[in-house]
Amino acid sequence: MEKYNLTCIMCPLGCSLVATKDGDEIKVTGNNCQRGEIFAKEELTCPMRIVTSSVKTEKGVKSCKTSKPVPKAKIFDVMKEIEKLRLKDAKYGEVVIKNVLDTGADIVITANE
Ligand code: SF4
Repeated sequence: MEKYNLTCIMCPLGCSLVATKDGDEIKVTGNNCQRGEIFAKEELTCPMRIVTSSVKTEKGVKSCKTSKPVPKAKIFDVMKEIEKLRLKDAKYGEVVIKNVLDTGADIVITANE
């Protein structure tokens, strides 16, 4: 049986979780709500993260992020896709890459200016 100590990142409470894995069975303790159990199980099977970065435009650098978490293993490849972009301009909320690397997540501009 493998044991993992995790901190839930799904809300500011940051519950300390203990996940135990026995074959395909994962048990989670320390969570104050169901989201913590889902988070811990995902961390042990397919960890996901929101990616934040910036896009180069002719009017300067604009911050961006993924519209939803992507597999942790694809973060660097997603960053490379963002780095390839050269835009004239980009507005807040604009999707600059749709379904990046078939993750189901879009790259969205988060800069207000
Ligand atoms: S387990 Fe629930 S209450 Fe605890 S940090 Fe995660 S989301 Fe928040």
